[in-house]
Amino acid sequence: MATKKINCSFCGRSKNEVGMLLSGIEGHICNNCLQQGYEVVKEELGSEGKEKTSDKKFELVKPKDLKAYLDEYVIGQDEAKKHLSVAVYNHYKRLMQPASNDEVKIEKSNILMVGETGTGKTYLARTLAQRLQVPFCIADATVITEAGYVGEDVETILTRLLQAANYDVAKAECGIVFIDEIDKIARKSDNPSITRDVSGEGVQQALLKLLEGSIVNVPPQGGRKHPDQKMIAVNTENILFICGGAFDGIGRHIAKRLNARPIGFSGDDTFHKSFEQDQIMKYVSAQDLKSFGLIPELLGRLPVITYLNPLDSVALLSILTEPKNALVKQYSKLFDMEGVKLSFSKEALSYLVEQAMQFKLGARGLRSIMEAIMNDAMYEIPSQENLKDFKVDLTYAKTKFERTVFHQIDHVA
Ligand code: ADP
Repeated sequence: MATKKINCSFCGRSKNEVGMLLSGIEGHICNNCLQQGYEVVKEELGSEGKEKTSDKKFELVKPKDLKAYLDEYVIGQDEAKKHLSVAVYNHYKRLMQPASNDEVKIEKSNILMVGETGTGKTYLARTLAQRLQVPFCIADATVITEAGYVGEDVETILTRLLQAANYDVAKAECGIVFIDEIDKIARKSDNPSITRDVSGEGVQQALLKLLEGSIVNVPPQGGRKHPDQKMIAVNTENILFICGGAFDGIGRHIAKRLNARPIGFSGDDTFHKSFEQDQIMKYVSAQDLKSFGLIPELLGRLPVITYLNPLDSVALLSILTEPKNALVKQYSKLFDMEGVKLSFSKEALSYLVEQAMQFKLGARGLRSIMEAIMNDAMYEIPSQENLKDFKVDLTYAKTKFERTVFHQIDHVA
């Protein structure tokens, strides 16, 4: 039986004359015609002025609107909110600049946030991404090591971003990555050449290529690079990196630098004395971060530096009740679903804040303390019929919390 001859429906060449033939419903196309077709499409779209970035989906939100959105969720931290809003706005404006306009190129505005643990660094970054509706992921700098050492390769940070974007590379390429605990990869010693510093300076070096914008081969499932794992190429040029760290002890570097300034402050002791420990953070600069152990190349790629204030008891109390997602609102909603109206006395809330202040975990402590106080009620109430109201007063909060292991650990420590 004679086999039917298959030719390319565009150029007419037979299967033997071309590298490969793809079949469609009505005919076939060879690799040469496909390649030519691709070139034509590329040229056409280019001549209509459609840039590659134009199909990338993101919304340009003005700095004031961004800050207003952050205000709904995050208490205080005004300076950080303003810096972030402007940097993010400029970042997305930069993405909109036409590629042909090469005279003035807007550079990337990656951000570095300095602030104690639990003051809202991650929360700010996450809330921003939520407003902008771009893919967002959190990476921990401490688990990354220089390639070839035990730990994760730096590329795996982008695996998470790809996953957040459902493997839509174009979407991931304009996402936001939050790198936490950047202070933990500070250089251990001032002399960089003594020994290899694989979890410190080595990681900083590895991060450079992500932050500056380059094409990175990302293992889609994470983990070590495997020869049979097909890599996905991701361009980091338009990914916004926000780094955060507590930088414990950086206050000393700031104070030292400020005191060392000869002009303007000489003889003015009041200026120096008037620094409260938590006030000094607002003077943080790239120089202090360099003294702390970040390499200048990395700092060069994090041009926006901002700080977060430690949270005092007034701020913690507001965090409990005011934001859209406030803990009190969340628990009330849980009780509402049982048909029970939950309320807290002022004293109970103050007690909760007091305990959180003792833990020194910022707002992060609030959640665990609240959980410890409310757990019994959440266990009992679903089985109680006819209960309409539930009030948490000081005695209730105290009794429940003092019984928890959480409380005992605190007092042993
Ligand atoms: P970190 O500064 O260590 O990254 P997070 O942003 O993870 O701290 O904060 C932990 C949690 O505490 C957040 O998920 C959020 O619920 C709450 N929180 C922290 N800071 C604030 C704040 N300023 N306003 C409202 N909630 C906050």
